[in-house]
Amino acid sequence: MTRTDTPWRATILTLYPEMFPGPLGISLSGDALARGTWSLETRNIREHGIGRHRAVDDTPAGGGAGMVLRCDVLAAAIDAAGQADDPRPRLLMSPRGRPLTQRRVRSLAEGPGALIVCGRFEGVDERVIAGRNLEEVSIGDYVLSGGEIAALVVLDACVRLLPGVMGKTESGVEESFEGGLLEYPHYTRPRDWEGRAIPDVLSGGNHAAIARWRRAKAERLTAERRPDLPGAQAASKSITGPSRS
Ligand code: SAH
Repeated sequence: MTRTDTPWRATILTLYPEMFPGPLGISLSGDALARGTWSLETRNIREHGIGRHRAVDDTPAGGGAGMVLRCDVLAAAIDAAGQADDPRPRLLMSPRGRPLTQRRVRSLAEGPGALIVCGRFEGVDERVIAGRNLEEVSIGDYVLSGGEIAALVVLDACVRLLPGVMGKTESGVEESFEGGLLEYPHYTRPRDWEGRAIPDVLSGGNHAAIARWRRAKAERLTAERRPDLPGAQAASKSITGPSRS
């Protein structure tokens, strides 16, 4: 799908809208935002809070520490954010979610955008997840204090893949995780630095040899560091191959 005139649309539901666009307002993503390649709408969940104090959270049923985001408040915020026929996936940032992958990022970037709910406190009332069809997404096995930074991670990963955001040369096809491999090592000038030289093959101008060397390096790194990745299979075979250096 090629996107020409309609921007990739992000809507963020948060208690801290001032955290956006934050770091995404600068550099590649900031330029793309200014150009209209993507759009960003933040909505404060508190606008749908209950009573004079606009309460959004309450104590956990069954007892225990902390507070829980109310399902009625969050549902009202979600309902106000988009039409019923909004085709965008609704993500809930959550350490319990499916870990974010480059594959999921690519599919999100190819779609119309995303609505992203940022949790706070102990999390959100379970019922709103099913009730509003939220896809729980985790950015890794550690706990953040809120979903905002996780949402920025998702947005950054998606936006850099939108057409025209990265230069042609960095189109991302050879990057880490593409093809289930980590990326090969990079070098640039100076040729010799503190007794460490750039590998000869990279200066030889033999493009086929360079491609082979890079592939072997990528496979070896993947086997060593990330045996869980799909590319690690081929990698373990080639470890004894010509790439030992
Ligand atoms: N009590 C929860 C953690 C709540 S952290 C638990 O143990 O699972 C508060 C909020 O931060 C979460 O609702 C979620 O929106 C966000 N968050 C924390 N860690 C995250 C992670 N690894 N990935 C995505 N979102 C995360």
